[in-house]
Amino acid sequence: MENNFLVYNPGQYDRKSLSDDLRKIKNNPFDGVVFSLTKPTTHQKKVSRFYPVNQMITLARELDFKVGLVLDCFENPVYWQKEFFTRPVNYQGKTSVADEFYSPVCPNNPFGIEYFQKLLLKVKRLPQVEFVLLQNLRFPFFWEAEDLDVQLQVPPYCYCPFCVTEFSSVIGEVITSTSQIIEYLPDWMEWRTGVIMSLIHDAREVLAQKTRLAVAVPPLAIIDLPFTTGQLPGAIVESGCLLTPLLYHKTKGGTTWFEDIIEQYRLEIKPQKLMPLFKFQTRTEFDQMIEIKTKNKYPVALFFSGPGWV
Ligand SMILES: [Zn+2]
Repeated sequence: MENNFLVYNPGQYDRKSLSDDLRKIKNNPFDGVVFSLTKPTTHQKKVSRFYPVNQMITLARELDFKVGLVLDCFENPVYWQKEFFTRPVNYQGKTSVADEFYSPVCPNNPFGIEYFQKLLLKVKRLPQVEFVLLQNLRFPFFWEAEDLDVQLQVPPYCYCPFCVTEFSSVIGEVITSTSQIIEYLPDWMEWRTGVIMSLIHDAREVLAQKTRLAVAVPPLAIIDLPFTTGQLPGAIVESGCLLTPLLYHKTKGGTTWFEDIIEQYRLEIKPQKLMPLFKFQTRTEFDQMIEIKTKNKYPVALFFSGPGWV
């Protein structure tokens, strides 16, 4: 089977285990693997540590795997440990609370932007890969825990000092409250989507010659994405990036919305521009997703499983 990538997490990594696991993956229907640049970090650890991705790519290439990379862009548990760090602020003026799996960073936070640039340059120095998936390149939205039926009047995030100051200077008026933002909602929306597109253009500037870029989007209705996350699916695709909807159907306890999302993408975005990420737990589920991939003519798909697949 062609262009099926397994998202592989090597835990704390050692060369021998990775090599053994890759051989096992080789016996399954995957011709590609996806590695993350950063090790999973818990809140107890204070130092961000990167995987030896160079070595991992070499090992995978030796076994004839195609390789993709994931960059966790605006999500960083290490920053949450630092005193200097300004957390994202929601529409009610409350600072974000980190979850074990999600420590969002505002895409207007200068430290966040610096880290993002650092990730891009790191990839630039690595051997060639098939694609780089930009994960969490959006305004904070913990979609796994939130209601996906978005009913808010204003986007949930972010109203941190960096956002409010920058937007104030864009419209030439000092913004101090959410009610003021409601008055300027079209400008606020335009400014937010501009912030995300500008970061995507930065990524393209550094990496477009080197590899294909993909942007991960939460499995929201396409029309809700700009409002909730600042991501503009049409503009992302026009800029030359692939779109990667995160299709974790079990996460939300059902398949209806998952099928709806696939149907929306079928109507609005060409399949060649899509590289969905499916999550599966059993071989039967995996086979169903392969069927979806074939039926919708997605040229490439990523698969992510719980522990125990390999
Ligand atoms: Zn902010």
